[in-house]
Amino acid sequence: MKFDNLIIGGGLAGLVCGIRLAEAGQRCAIISRGQSALHFSSGSLDLLAELPDGSPVNFPLQALEALKQQAPEHPYSLMGADNVSRYAADSEALLARCNITLQGSYQQNHQRITPLGTQRATWLSPEEIPTAPLPWKHITVVGIAGFLDFQPELVAGSLAENNIAVQTAELTLPALDTLRNNPSEFRAANIARLLDMPEQQLLLIKELKALANKTDALFLPACLGSHDEKIWQTISRELPCQLRLLPTLPPSVLGMRMYHQLHRRFQQLKGIMMPGDAVLNTKMGQNNVSAIFTRNHAEIPLRATSYILASGSFFSNGLEAKFSGIREPIFGLDIRGPLLREEWCKEDFFCPQPYLQAGVGIDEYFHPTLAGQRIENLYAIGSVLAGFDPLQQGCGAGVSMTGALHVAQQILDSKGAGA
Ligand SMILES: Cc1cc2nc3c(=O)[nH]c(=O)nc-3n(C[C@H](O)[C@H](O)[C@H](O)COP(=O)(O)OP(=O)(O)OC[C@H]3O[C@@H](n4cnc5c(N)ncnc54)[C@H](O)[C@@H]3O)c2cc1C
Repeated sequence: MKFDNLIIGGGLAGLVCGIRLAEAGQRCAIISRGQSALHFSSGSLDLLAELPDGSPVNFPLQALEALKQQAPEHPYSLMGADNVSRYAADSEALLARCNITLQGSYQQNHQRITPLGTQRATWLSPEEIPTAPLPWKHITVVGIAGFLDFQPELVAGSLAENNIAVQTAELTLPALDTLRNNPSEFRAANIARLLDMPEQQLLLIKELKALANKTDALFLPACLGSHDEKIWQTISRELPCQLRLLPTLPPSVLGMRMYHQLHRRFQQLKGIMMPGDAVLNTKMGQNNVSAIFTRNHAEIPLRATSYILASGSFFSNGLEAKFSGIREPIFGLDIRGPLLREEWCKEDFFCPQPYLQAGVGIDEYFHPTLAGQRIENLYAIGSVLAGFDPLQQGCGAGVSMTGALHVAQQILDSKGAGA
């Protein structure tokens, strides 16, 4: 089987790269073993929230020069400030083409309200997420009886620190009793599957209306709209007060919805998705990948002009921490970052952890190396890369999306395929 591009990994980075290439008429396939970080994410996309030295960032583009001084091997520093700016704008346009409606802009971070009721700087958030400053004097945080992945009292405690009158309430929703009887099944995604049914929405609206007269806004856990972002608006319109949703513990309904929207766009563009398959072996030529082999196509070589590694970090097994060291298991690419085991972690659990900066080393074109040799037709993107800490710096989605577009553009330029 021969493609223009083969992408290993169908998370945010792989999908964005595949969509951009497919939009330009390239024949692309994405091989993806399992769920991605999106399925566990907040649903908000971070661009750059904090510099390595801990300084908070309000205007991400203005902080890129300082970032380059402090972290010269950060993917943004390698890509260059002009490219980050260009591809951040292009990312927003690409998301809009996927019918993903988000609030925010790459020009300035906003503060989203977290599941703990605190504030966190981010780039783009689903429209139903509340953002600071909150315009309401009285908020009711509504839990669901028996649902442990969302604690209204915790949220209320933090919100009350902003001089807002906050109270908590609980929905009973008897339709959820079957799930409620099995606590391990009583998770956001399963609740959403039920509440997304039109007849259940009517019952939900009835319970919410009973709480809505005494407050300016209701905050609910994000257990609605796994495939359709309009459900939140439909329910909202029926209420006399504002409705907002807060992310829950994983699985994330908001992240899964974004995954489905990206996936749908890729398939509409005739991209080929190989879900549940895994790249197991590769065949290398002279500084080139000549074929890859997957679990489901063990005997059939998959070949492409360009290969893009988007296999994620430790969380997705794109990187592995072994007794002998950190490794990239598909190609055995060169790793940058803390190599000695004793340097991987800091004792203080709340410190930025050095292992998060480990990953595949790349040049400014996002080509990795194998035993010191650049591989000409292989690129690496997303959280498999070295040089950044998505948790401390709040830049995970931005690195994934801008890097994906940077690589897609080089592939298109090299083929004269244009925009
Ligand atoms: C739990 C969690 C929550 C996060 N939340 C946020 C957030 O709220 N906001 C934010 O901006 N960032 C968040 N991040 C950072 C996140 O890493 C990036 O935002 C981004 O989603 C990473 O995308 P990716 O495509 O690089 O990797 P991933 O999403 O990890 O995707 C990699 C994919 O590659 C597949 N794969 C791996 N090996 C193989 C193989 N051999 N063959 C085939 N497929 C393979 C995996 O199955 C997976 O589907 C979070 C990260 C984690 C781990």
